[in-house]
Amino acid sequence: MAKRNFDDEFGFQTRAVHTGNDVDSETGAIKRPITMANSYELPYDPSDLNWSSAGKNLYTRNGGSNQQYLQEKLASLEGGEDCVVLASGVAALSGLFFALLKSGDHVVFSSVTYIAVYRLLNELLKDKFGVETTIVDTTDIEKVKAAIRPNTKLIHIETPGNPTLSISDIEKIAELAHANGALLSVDNTFASPFNQRPIELGADFTVESLTKYINGHGDAMGGAIIGKKEYLDIIRAQSQINLGATISPFNAWLIMRGSVTLPLRMKQHNENALKVARYLKTVKGVSFVAYPGLEDHPNHDVAVKQMKNGFGGVLSFGLKADHDTYNRFVTHLKVITSAVSLGHDESLIVFLGENDERQYLYPEEFHNGFFRFSVGIEDAEDIIEDLRQAFEKEKLL
Ligand SMILES: *Cc1c(COP(=O)(O)O)cnc(C)c1O
Repeated sequence: MAKRNFDDEFGFQTRAVHTGNDVDSETGAIKRPITMANSYELPYDPSDLNWSSAGKNLYTRNGGSNQQYLQEKLASLEGGEDCVVLASGVAALSGLFFALLKSGDHVVFSSVTYIAVYRLLNELLKDKFGVETTIVDTTDIEKVKAAIRPNTKLIHIETPGNPTLSISDIEKIAELAHANGALLSVDNTFASPFNQRPIELGADFTVESLTKYINGHGDAMGGAIIGKKEYLDIIRAQSQINLGATISPFNAWLIMRGSVTLPLRMKQHNENALKVARYLKTVKGVSFVAYPGLEDHPNHDVAVKQMKNGFGGVLSFGLKADHDTYNRFVTHLKVITSAVSLGHDESLIVFLGENDERQYLYPEEFHNGFFRFSVGIEDAEDIIEDLRQAFEKEKLL
């Protein structure tokens, strides 16, 4: 039985449930199975086979069926032509950069990005492979414009940016990139395709850490690049087959399963984070709250324009307190866990100290240490009460 094409006719939630799933032809199971085999039976005469092809029935490093089902769903949810799923978000980012950039090319990227982007572009690709890089505050379109050179091949932005929640205007930067013969990639991890779809806003590539909201349960790592097939075929050949960043079938299956509830979870993340952000604004000992859903966020209007369903579950805030108080505050929390990562079902908080080498790129309020808080899908009242009792113990109310 063939399923209908879910891409054209159905809404986001229906596609999150159905796209990439089908009845298993062998057993009749209404969920596709996990295929854990490393290798596949060869045809009678294998001598013509291309050992570097990404066909699924050859060798699992070249691609497997669970990966392909997930790719089908993510291409649909992000509104792109094709998708490559790899072992982690960083594998997706490095896959994109290695495929697009060569020695002598120039790349412009956001001053607020995931740390591995900074290492890849500003250290590894620059120092080892001669790629030119410019770091820019991409919330300011004039600064982006001024940074473009004749050899600019790629602009890479992250919005909302980790960890300051800065917002860059995807539509305007896409226009600027294309007018100058460059491509635009957007790290969409903080928003997820439920809140924001960069390709629909003109971007050439969307990158996602599937480890975060798309899997959503904190138990599997993965990454994805969504965009045009002509580029993704190159990424597949390089990153997956020749650099070996293939996702395991089990992780692809877990992420496929987790992604079914992405719209439901995002609604709760959006709602809870806004409530927590508003609560934090009322606390005397809180020095600042950064959340794009707050009216006083410096780019709130751009966030409203491009984030259609909400502003995500991550916020950052500071305390009018010293380093020791920051650490003690965390030990009082009972619902919220002190751990890195974000976009999990549970609330996670991390104290980012005063010694970040990239601090000079952040707004001033971030310079004395702050918390990045990934608000989970627990009851908002319980999250707020957990914060309140911890503030009380440190006399911050
Ligand atoms: C976590 C994260 C990544 C990296 O993803 P991994 O799956 O940990 O490799 C990339 N970008 C952003 C914005 C992230 O938060």
